[in-house]
Amino acid sequence: MPTADRYRSLRYLMVATFAGLSCFGPLASAFTEPPQTETQWNVLLITWDGVRRPEFSGYPDPSIAGADSLPTLPFFWDQLVSQGKLYGDPRGGPPMFVANATMRSLPAYHSIMGGSAGICLSNECGRIRETTFLERLRDELHLARTEVASIASWARMPLAVEKVPGSVLVNAGPEPLVDGSADAERDRVNDLQRSDLPPWMEARFDRYTHAQAMNYLRKHKPRFLHIGYNDADEWGHRFDYPHYLQALRDYDHYLAETLATLSEDEAYGRRTCILLTTDHGRGQGPLWGDHGNGELSAAKVFLFAGCPLAENSSPFMDSPRFTSHADIRPTIEHLFGLKPKTCFLCGRSLYQPKPSKPTYSMETP
Ligand SMILES: [Zn+2]
Repeated sequence: MPTADRYRSLRYLMVATFAGLSCFGPLASAFTEPPQTETQWNVLLITWDGVRRPEFSGYPDPSIAGADSLPTLPFFWDQLVSQGKLYGDPRGGPPMFVANATMRSLPAYHSIMGGSAGICLSNECGRIRETTFLERLRDELHLARTEVASIASWARMPLAVEKVPGSVLVNAGPEPLVDGSADAERDRVNDLQRSDLPPWMEARFDRYTHAQAMNYLRKHKPRFLHIGYNDADEWGHRFDYPHYLQALRDYDHYLAETLATLSEDEAYGRRTCILLTTDHGRGQGPLWGDHGNGELSAAKVFLFAGCPLAENSSPFMDSPRFTSHADIRPTIEHLFGLKPKTCFLCGRSLYQPKPSKPTYSMETP
């Protein structure tokens, strides 16, 4: 199939996804380009705040008031999960844990961006005190500021993303996104996210974060983009199960839309990996909405890692042991061809590139 036709077919397939048709399987095989090398990957890190394992596993918990029986994450489970590896799989296998002792958000984001447990013990711990992998990517790969970005609903996210404010492009909470060029869509969303505020503090609705992120992805094609969603945690704290479920279904739709956006640019999409995790789980039974107050179930998290539009969509190792948030930083550094940071409490890269083909000398003896 000619490249242009193949591209149009791919667009069609993704549009069909939104109509509820099962079509994701053929995507990876539609590309026949050579495999990627270590330094060619782009990475999207997607964080869902406060998602419990029961609902992550696919359906609502019938023991909670307000539960329905509809799937929570149909796109993820039917079409995306097979395109990568899932650590902390709720269906079985080795668990994945937070890398902090508190099961709260800011300590978790510190450990994800810093690559180890860190010293943050509450949401009041302030700015991260070590260079984050985002800052390292920009420095060592000599990337422009717009090539390494974090777009997040929670206003405190910048405290985990960069040690030195202004090192990378960060946009969070109701603050307008500023990326240095004229952009009517960005301006439209900037206005909405400031005027249509959620009923909780220090945040904007995820729908605006998602709109900003998709527009940014199309416009800048960043080497690294973090998209931080937050609504699920806020509805959880309110013990509002129907809205919590709706937040997860929105996240599922956002995932499908993210894949569709990536597929608009074949060369970019096939070089892009997605890492998806949550910062913490939540309690169980009547305490389902809580976390950070000793609920041990909140320590269990998950990580999906896959490059769904690439020929080899899953260059990641099988989970050989338990994994943790601390493994995310070294995995991303490795995907960019950097030597992963090492330290006593640091994690380990889960990236497993194909061994390069041997080269043969044509010299005669
Ligand atoms: Zn919370």
